[in-house]
Amino acid sequence: MSSAALRVVLLGAPGSGKGTQAEKLSVALAVPAISTGEMLRRAVAQGTELGRRVDGVMSSGRLVDDELMAEVVRERLAAPDAAAGFLLDGYPRTAAQAATLDGLLAAQGSRLDAVVFLDVPEEVLVQRSLARRRQDDREEVIRERQRVYREQTEPLVELFEARGLLHRIDGDRTMDEVTRAVLGRLGRG
Ligand code: AMP
Repeated sequence: MSSAALRVVLLGAPGSGKGTQAEKLSVALAVPAISTGEMLRRAVAQGTELGRRVDGVMSSGRLVDDELMAEVVRERLAAPDAAAGFLLDGYPRTAAQAATLDGLLAAQGSRLDAVVFLDVPEEVLVQRSLARRRQDDREEVIRERQRVYREQTEPLVELFEARGLLHRIDGDRTMDEVTRAVLGRLGRG
């Protein structure tokens, strides 16, 4: 396994700019951006078995169950391109998923190098989410996603901080400024 491999989790609320940063950082760091939300949306669009199972939950703004997500992520991380490292966007989202990820990586003899938390004030998040909403997103679904994030995902910030993995980045800046700040913090600036 290459010592240059970089395994990073991007953490942030809906509207924090995670997806955009994942794409930009993926290019800069030459590792794949793995977005579980995009994988699931693709499965829904293609009408696969997975897509049929997750469609209803996704359109409600709630989370797909941890066991199903474990299968999705296990398979994706086993793909050859992920051996060089990855940027995970949208996983883990619960404490159970964080434990699953540790287990998957430990089984490969690897572990997470860093968790980047894009810190954005709540009022900015809601504004951004409303401004950029996908066509099928209703306002109550956007609010439900924020609520689910606060309840299930935000606790991961402290969990990763306690493990000494967390890099808190001010996400209330331009896209390019945020990308530069992350690269600097990862020592790849
Ligand atoms: P995202 O594009 O990351 O906001 O994800 C869109 C939707 O996909 C979420 O609102 C969830 O319903 C589902 N989803 C994506 N990633 C996960 C995950 N790690 N665990 C559970 N559900 C997920």
